[in-house]
Amino acid sequence: MSLTDNMPDNKGYFGEYGGQILPPEMQAIMNEIDGAYEEIRQTKEFQQELAELYAKYVGRPSPIFHAKRLTEHAGGAQIYLKREDLNHTGAHKINHCLGEALLAKYMGKTKVLAETGAGQHGVALASACALVGIPCEIHMGEIDIAKEHPNVVKMKILGCKLVPVTRGTKTLKDAVDSAFDEYLLDPVNFFYAIGSVVGPHPFPKMVRDFQSIIGTEARQQFQQQTGTLPNKVMACVGGGSNAMGIFTAFLDDADVELVGVEPAGKGLDTPDHAATMTFGTKGAIHGFECLTLQDEKGEPLPVYSIASGLDYPGVGPQHCHLKDIARVRYEAIDDQECLDAFMTLSRTEGIIPALESAHAVAYAMKQAKSLSADQTILVNLSGRGDKDADFVAEKLGL
Ligand SMILES: *Cc1c(COP(=O)(O)O)cnc(C)c1O
Repeated sequence: MSLTDNMPDNKGYFGEYGGQILPPEMQAIMNEIDGAYEEIRQTKEFQQELAELYAKYVGRPSPIFHAKRLTEHAGGAQIYLKREDLNHTGAHKINHCLGEALLAKYMGKTKVLAETGAGQHGVALASACALVGIPCEIHMGEIDIAKEHPNVVKMKILGCKLVPVTRGTKTLKDAVDSAFDEYLLDPVNFFYAIGSVVGPHPFPKMVRDFQSIIGTEARQQFQQQTGTLPNKVMACVGGGSNAMGIFTAFLDDADVELVGVEPAGKGLDTPDHAATMTFGTKGAIHGFECLTLQDEKGEPLPVYSIASGLDYPGVGPQHCHLKDIARVRYEAIDDQECLDAFMTLSRTEGIIPALESAHAVAYAMKQAKSLSADQTILVNLSGRGDKDADFVAEKLGL
């Protein structure tokens, strides 16, 4: 049996995780979205439209780059980068935003809503909505608005309505709550475009499917370029969409080790991290079941990472299942290691990565040292670091 069979089952479960932890009327709306998705994904028209946009709008396929100077610097295994940072709008998120915007259009929805952390999902979705011609509204925590100024400006230029979120931690988790409240005002006509492989069924499945183009391309490209498959594939994990995007094509390749890298923030021995896979326990958050960082009452704990796109107290249900069955190994990288990798990749290869992606680069450099030069590591470089450049320069006094 393949590891991708029946994932998720018809109730939206990946093993014990996922589902729809929602009132019956909202379950009905989610099932309607699932029905529409399953219907259109089979059609030639939708497949062609999406394939055409991936090629001519996003710039796919994104290349795989052999990072020779980074490899030399790390000393050991050969490091390759899947260049999702080269996508239009600067990250992998455009892959699922186009799918979601097209689906919303096909379903006749009147407004697309979402939250954003680092602003990457917001910019990608605002772009996709401008392209498809649907009004777009993005909720974003005030702290993230201050930190991610370039993306905030872009969203405004792209014509979306930006709603600052002042409640709670003023970051990603509260932005989700705020956007969801707005969605509940008219869920029949609004479409909530979830920004990762999280939320109620069918979103973890749908976002994974749209992102799986990354691994489908990468598996073939890697074989073409090197004659074989990589020994290890690594990706950072916030909600887990770029990781599922690259992992899915390799799930049945038992010899390819898959590693998800989550944020250890200021350290796993401090409360300031977002290491959901390391410390999370099973719970419900935002309409689905997964490993979560929660207090005794089941309320999400405040989480932290230097990378705004990774500080979420839950994680995609399929990742939780892949951890349970030991198909994917999860590791944590702290802020300092992330910053070091950010600078090292910039100065050895002339590629400025997103702080999120730098977590995966950092773990790849660490791991490479313990491997021989004939081993290979493929890192999903999920996004570019333009949005983080000012923040890092200030932090390091450059
Ligand atoms: C949003 C984001 C992430 C985190 O989201 P996932 O769903 O875990 O992929 C990672 N990298 C970049 C560049 C992002 O913008």
